[in-house]
Amino acid sequence: MSFSNLGLSKPILEAIREVGYDKPTNIQDKAIPIVLSGKNLIAAAQTGTGKTASFVLPILERLSASTTQKKKRFRALILTPTRELAIQVNASIEKYAKHVNLTSTAVYGGVDDGPQRQKLIDGIDILVATPGRLIDLYGKRAVHFEEAEVLVLDEADRMLDMGFIEDINKIIARLPQDIQNLLFSATLSNPVRDLAKSAIDHAEEISIAKHSASKANIEQWITTVDKDKKSSLLAHLINKHQWQQALIFIETKHGAAKLAAQLEKRGIKAEPFHSGRSQNIRTQLLEQFKNGEIAYLIATGVGSRGIDISELPLVINYDLPYPADEYVHRIGRTGRADAKGEAISLVSKDNFKNLCMIESRLGHLLERRVIEGFEPKKEVPISILNYVPKSKRRS
Ligand code: AMP
Repeated sequence: MSFSNLGLSKPILEAIREVGYDKPTNIQDKAIPIVLSGKNLIAAAQTGTGKTASFVLPILERLSASTTQKKKRFRALILTPTRELAIQVNASIEKYAKHVNLTSTAVYGGVDDGPQRQKLIDGIDILVATPGRLIDLYGKRAVHFEEAEVLVLDEADRMLDMGFIEDINKIIARLPQDIQNLLFSATLSNPVRDLAKSAIDHAEEISIAKHSASKANIEQWITTVDKDKKSSLLAHLINKHQWQQALIFIETKHGAAKLAAQLEKRGIKAEPFHSGRSQNIRTQLLEQFKNGEIAYLIATGVGSRGIDISELPLVINYDLPYPADEYVHRIGRTGRADAKGEAISLVSKDNFKNLCMIESRLGHLLERRVIEGFEPKKEVPISILNYVPKSKRRS
């Protein structure tokens, strides 16, 4: 299939050609015709699969037929879990909308809302928003919902994990009832299905998640190590391999700052990236990371969604995340759109449960590599692949 067979018009095909995509990805093949037809859609697809373009391109196509704008109104709303993702999605829209006459903006918390309100005054075609900030702006009458034609719930699972269900329900309740609803989620877990059931009637369903959960183009391996040796092991690996760039994930803000200091003592410069740093600093750090000025970024979960660097070669899990889907999201930061990537996890004995859950989710054990001089005193057992955490066991 090529983009020109999907029903997209010239100005959009021209933008696709300019960003250099040769052919649609799997999700784009499946989703674009459905969205163009005006149907509702529930799609299981992770980041890294090209899912953003799979809804942005047909939305641009549908909206470009007219340009009516009313003050403080929007026509398409894309809800995202984090500000990073909101910025990211809006950047994609700007790329794809280069030759159509449509406007877009992103609104998100953590920054002064003045400039965001200003951008909404004359109305906007596509609004990308985090749920909390949108509700705030709505409360201040800076935005009205009645011209909405399309709603996208992007990374719905993550929005639910982050506790946005009430905000999402409030937003849906205020949108016109007959709009087109599109839901994208890495997994169609029960809570996501519940949300879909309550918010979306008669949806087409597509799923490509299984295939990409363990993407063949990402080389994944783990090494077991005692907890107190992790930072010296990481420094050793960085020095040995001379990695050009790596995104390092860690659980806590405090942990990120501590690891940055530990690496610095060993002559390695790495920047902590977490919600404790201001939005301006985070935006700047991402920019510097993208253009290579910063080689190593130590991110907490907040960083795992919005970071889109087409050539990111390496993701390191300094801690193993919970839940298991988070692992899939994290490693999806590398190997984007079928480029080659590597994902390494440093696993200590206290990570064993998380390891079981991740390997169960992937459906296979991860390759273990031994790093000489760092063999753990506390061995990490081999996982049980059908592991179910106690809290989820049926009695
Ligand atoms: P996403 O899953 O939307 O986060 O996109 C992942 C990455 O794939 C982004 O860097 C996109 O620019 C890129 N991408 C999206 N569609 C295509 C395509 N058809 N061909 C090549 N790269 C693409």
